[in-house]
Amino acid sequence: MNRKYMAEPYRIKMVEPIRETTKEERITLLKNAGYNPFSLKSDDVYIDLLTDSGTGAMSQDQWAAMMIGDEAYAGSRSFYRLESVVKNITGYEYFIPVHQGRGAEKVFLPQLVTKPGMYYISNIHFDTTRAHVELAGARALDCVVPDCYDIEHWHDFKGNMCLECLENTILEKGKDNICGVIMTITNNSAGGQPVSMENMRETKKICDKYGIKMIIDGARYAENSFFIKEREKGYQDKDIVDIARETFSYADAFLMSAKKDGLVNMGGVIAIKNDRELFDKCRTYVVPYEGFPTYGGLNGRDMDALAVGLMEALDIRYLTHRIDQVRYLGDRLHEAGVPIQYPVGGHAVFVDCKAFAPHIPYDQFPALSVTNAIYIEAGVRAVEIGSLLLGRDPDTLKNRESKMELMRLTIPRRLYTYNHLDVVADAVIHVYEHRHELKGYQFDYESKILRHFTSTFKPI
Ligand SMILES: *Cc1c(COP(=O)(O)O)cnc(C)c1O
Repeated sequence: MNRKYMAEPYRIKMVEPIRETTKEERITLLKNAGYNPFSLKSDDVYIDLLTDSGTGAMSQDQWAAMMIGDEAYAGSRSFYRLESVVKNITGYEYFIPVHQGRGAEKVFLPQLVTKPGMYYISNIHFDTTRAHVELAGARALDCVVPDCYDIEHWHDFKGNMCLECLENTILEKGKDNICGVIMTITNNSAGGQPVSMENMRETKKICDKYGIKMIIDGARYAENSFFIKEREKGYQDKDIVDIARETFSYADAFLMSAKKDGLVNMGGVIAIKNDRELFDKCRTYVVPYEGFPTYGGLNGRDMDALAVGLMEALDIRYLTHRIDQVRYLGDRLHEAGVPIQYPVGGHAVFVDCKAFAPHIPYDQFPALSVTNAIYIEAGVRAVEIGSLLLGRDPDTLKNRESKMELMRLTIPRRLYTYNHLDVVADAVIHVYEHRHELKGYQFDYESKILRHFTSTFKPI
């Protein structure tokens, strides 16, 4: 059978009821939340597309694996099971578990900041990564390919590093002032867009030329591997796990939020290829921040669920359906004329709110305006990825203008059906048809670090 979108490769064995609210209720709920969807109670949300982070459904095998979790403080069996899976997938020698991606960033990133005035360079730093770079006293520079900003046209690998920008930046800042190059795969802030194997390889060459470490921020490395298999010449017949392994071969370290392609609700990974000294430094730091190096803030049972989840996420049937679901929502919006980033990335559909609501200036956060409107319309929670998320310049304290003002409709893994996605599509299309009524927002309270999480707003 040749279907356009692959049906769920699983049956639903357990269900979680969801509450529905009325439009009148939602108007009040949003006002009480300071017009910041992060402050809504999940019970007041019908379909929650805020994030794909830790929101997925675990499989029966993962739940079963939790039963054999070994809760020993040091050297638990769960740790060794997880370690062996991580080493097998990455081909790396060293592994430290952490409680989530930012735990990995907090432990790892400061280790390469050896003096003031240094820089990390990334295709695009994810927001917590940028925050940890800045907290470590360094600065974060982005060198994504210009294709990334060509929102409506197809490019196979919009998440790629711009090699010219990378090399020029290294030369301009001086190679001794670069802490490392961080390749984010898929490129979350670019719309979950993939990075090609060729780009990984070429980036690694530049890193080697200047003696700079390459780090993979690989929360969605399995989805990235899927896109490589689908789009890059020479990879069609390769297994996903082999594509992943080749990807890892081009880096020196791997940081992962396992809440994405780990298919767990909490967890993170630091893996280091072969630098023993760097591993020792991270192991020393992980103790005060996360926990003893054989649990790193995780329960034994969490490590077992992750060991199983990491393998399930590399299954081609799982990945095909996963990417198809995202594509389905994207296609519905695209066909209705809603401006979206095209093609859609791996974990979300990004609606181009600069084109959606061009009458709202960047510092009145057009994507927040669209996000709030679809919540009121249908109880769907999305998230702003634009100038609000980008925050202020740490030196000048000015509002930075993001090149893109996006609303991210993030699809949790294995959680919702195509019917839920139809509700979402209908809501977005409805708001699009009434887009001229949308209004911008100003701060009521602005928090200093990662401001999009806790600030409150007033409609203008
Ligand atoms: C989610 C994410 C992080 C941070 O991970 P958490 O588990 O949320 O702390 C870092 N980098 C990327 C690319 C991410 O998607």
